[in-house]
Amino acid sequence: MKFEDICETHSPPCDLTQVPRVSDSWRIRNDGRNIVAYKCSVLGHKFKVLSPFEAACIPLFDGTLAFAEITEKCIELFDPPERVQEEFIIRLHKIFEGLLSIEGFITLEGGISPSLRKKTDLIPDFIDYRFPAPRLERPLSVMIAFTNRCSCNCRYCYAQKKVCEEADIAQWREVFDECAANEIYLVDIAGGDIFTREDCLDILHEMVSRDFTFFVSTKSYLSDGDAEQLAEMGIGIKEKIAPTLYRKVQVSVDSADDSIASYLVRKPGYLDIATQTTENLISAGIYPRIKSVLTSYNATAPADIVHHFTELGVKEFDFVLYSRSYYCHDDSLFLSMEQKIELHRMAEALTKVFPSLHMTFQDETTSGKPLNMTCEQWEERAVCSGGRSNMIIQPNGDVTLCDQIPHEAPFIVGNVFSQSIIGVWKSRKLEEFLYPDRKKFSGSVCYDCPEFDRCMQFRGYCYRDSLFYYGSIYDAPPECPWQEKKAPRKT
Ligand code: SF4
Ligand code: SF4
Repeated sequence: MKFEDICETHSPPCDLTQVPRVSDSWRIRNDGRNIVAYKCSVLGHKFKVLSPFEAACIPLFDGTLAFAEITEKCIELFDPPERVQEEFIIRLHKIFEGLLSIEGFITLEGGISPSLRKKTDLIPDFIDYRFPAPRLERPLSVMIAFTNRCSCNCRYCYAQKKVCEEADIAQWREVFDECAANEIYLVDIAGGDIFTREDCLDILHEMVSRDFTFFVSTKSYLSDGDAEQLAEMGIGIKEKIAPTLYRKVQVSVDSADDSIASYLVRKPGYLDIATQTTENLISAGIYPRIKSVLTSYNATAPADIVHHFTELGVKEFDFVLYSRSYYCHDDSLFLSMEQKIELHRMAEALTKVFPSLHMTFQDETTSGKPLNMTCEQWEERAVCSGGRSNMIIQPNGDVTLCDQIPHEAPFIVGNVFSQSIIGVWKSRKLEEFLYPDRKKFSGSVCYDCPEFDRCMQFRGYCYRDSLFYYGSIYDAPPECPWQEKKAPRKT
């Protein structure tokens, strides 16, 4: 049977004359034992380890071949016997269908992924191919806390704010070089406010020069000169920048009433600081997102914040609710149910009044209800990225696997300055942390859980929540369907 006849009998999932390409928001990395495709964005980051068959096909999605030509090339490549060719093509088209169903991965127009444009080596070791791979061969992203210092001292802060020695820029350069050599492009900023470091712009420059993707959030005052330097580096600028290199800038402020804004961050005149910073950024061509944490003190702040900052030109807002923190929690900051309902109404009204703005509101009206997921939801829970695809580097080079667990033993799994990033990633200590011995869970529901090995090996569990709610990482989080202990209020 001829190729065209097969396509006629089994209608393919796509128009075979169309020319697909891996989108310019995605990168592809050859990890030797498998191929990883990922959306190169700090906020919308997702990844997929490709099956061997997908891995073999993907270099053909470079925007030069139509689906029909890709099909023919695959036939050439795999050379299936004549008698199974029909089935081969049908399967191939199912694979195309699967790739097309990954949101934004394959597109039919627009730019092409830099990984395919540069003709990077994308042929892995197919004999020893590892699939599925719940843990990557090397990190896909690292978050670096260059400092734990902040310019404010927010009442709702969730960070540990540990006083910590800070590595200098020469040391960070070595870390950056290792990231670049290992195609780790998602190098984000964690910890305190990077602008409290004198060398912050130099650090950012080093990151930009290696094509790293990151997110810049601040409560520091940025002068017009600072803003211009950021703009010159392309930080916060969307136009003429490849989507994989877009680095959003965020200014945090919690009220358009200065007495409340200043009270919440314990800094006098804070509204003015945030307003001037925003003005300076916008004059330099950077349109920051405004982020607000809503507490019982500023539950109705969004309307005034939106009015105040849209007048300056801001187009994006993010409103989140105060939630329990491990280090300095205060129950009085929680919103009441009435406030949450009022906020829900306000969000609807603002969305109607400002349809062109991009606004996100955390809509939470579930406090008091048990957090346990159903078994089906639990099966589909988000994978804990710590140690599977991501690691956190503390200001002194120590590595932890979650940015919210304490920077202290037993949560430190290594140090990048004494071991290198890959040295830590492959270390026994990290592995032991990631796959703990069942005995450590004695007294918890995990100890007798028949799912224990699968749970630890594949998706993992949120040990931050176990620690925050029950005081130990060796316990099930409140979302686990088998956790029976009542969790304290979260938001
Ligand atoms: S968190 Fe514990 S109890 Fe829940 S599925 Fe995992 S091992 Fe089992
Ligand atoms: S422990 Fe929880 S918060 Fe931390 S990385 Fe894992 S899932 Fe995320």
